[in-house]
Amino acid sequence: METTFSKISSKEAIALEDKYGAHNYHPLPVVLAKGEGVNVWDAEGKHYYDFLSAYSAVNQGHSHPKIVKALVDQASTLGLTSRAFHNNVLGEYEEYITSYFGFDKVLPMNTGAEAVETALKLCRKWAYEVKGLKENTAKIIVCENNFHGRTTTVISFSNDPVARKNFGPYTPGFIKIPYNDVDALAEALKEDNIAGFLVEPIQGEAGVYVPDAGYLEACQKLCKENNVLFIADEVQTGIARTGALLAVCGDCNCGTSCQKQSDTYVTPDILILGKAVSGGMYPVSAVLANNEIMNVIRPGEHGSTFGGNPTAAKVAMAALEVVKDEDLAANARTLGNLFRAEMEKIIAKSDLVSAVRGRGLLNAILINDTEDSSTAWDICMALRDNGLLAKPTHGNIIRFAPPLVMTKEQLMECVAIIDKTLSEFKK
Ligand SMILES: *Cc1c(COP(=O)(O)O)cnc(C)c1O
Repeated sequence: METTFSKISSKEAIALEDKYGAHNYHPLPVVLAKGEGVNVWDAEGKHYYDFLSAYSAVNQGHSHPKIVKALVDQASTLGLTSRAFHNNVLGEYEEYITSYFGFDKVLPMNTGAEAVETALKLCRKWAYEVKGLKENTAKIIVCENNFHGRTTTVISFSNDPVARKNFGPYTPGFIKIPYNDVDALAEALKEDNIAGFLVEPIQGEAGVYVPDAGYLEACQKLCKENNVLFIADEVQTGIARTGALLAVCGDCNCGTSCQKQSDTYVTPDILILGKAVSGGMYPVSAVLANNEIMNVIRPGEHGSTFGGNPTAAKVAMAALEVVKDEDLAANARTLGNLFRAEMEKIIAKSDLVSAVRGRGLLNAILINDTEDSSTAWDICMALRDNGLLAKPTHGNIIRFAPPLVMTKEQLMECVAIIDKTLSEFKK
């Protein structure tokens, strides 16, 4: 096709990565060279619909002009100061994001894993200095099959053998309970020295597990009764992905119009955001909490050279603005319902897919084969050939998470690609 689209071919790009890069990923063999909205193009100029959105970082679509402008303007004015000095953008951003999500304060970081680490440190410090636990005794409850990132502490409480093996010794102080099990939480809370409960409102990496209605509310209530912090990791589920501003908002229909989440919905004590906070334009993550919790952090006790830099601050404000301006939560909700209904039609006529689940535009289909089979991977390769990019998670699950700026017409075109691919697929 267009031979001038990229300076190097897809084949050359893959060979360079293979030779000079650490092999810590196993990407689908496609080399992307350009993105715009829901569209991406490879080095040879072939077009695809992006159905992963960089793990839900690109909710606002690739290269959104408003976010690009914010990045370019600020980067060419003042890029990074470190927190050794103030900058004239950070305060404005802090006011913006705290009122956007209804918290007193924010602690700005860069990546999701860093924000999780920050939340864990904050929770432990609160437990010693406010709750009054004896130093070095605090325990934090987490869920089985969690995904919270790749740092040493975070993988310490993972139960994915691939993520853990030979990375020990592990950080102590975590208790693992089954996900979507209120009784297990109630039982774990009977132990001494519990400081917090860390949970994904929908487990994304595990394969898009949506908990039962009322689960999060019940967990929050139990945490409150036991003076334990309820910590929501919305790095993947947040920022309109699931059809509400946050997944903890559940089926609240207000889209993104509410400032402070109302009493009827779950308000975490600590909220962790990342990925789409910047529309995928720049690494921006955030930890939000009220004063009683956040004020335990004092100068020198935690930080990051890049956290809260002016470029990040401007990019995040623009990205969050886009979510409201374009009512992305409502679009995710409408298109998500449509998508699952269309997948149900495919399931009814195909034995290749056994189920669809999800909320908003965070969905997954279950491939009717064993977890160690290559069927889901092979289907993703066939989808790629037909112009749609998705990736298997945990063997036989395929996640479908397009940018939230998708139109109904585009979604139906994608449904047609999925339908065609599955009906033609031979194992
Ligand atoms: C992606 C993700 C993280 C880690 O974010 P990074 O930016 O990759 O460090 C943490 N928690 C959840 C729920 C995620 O999906």
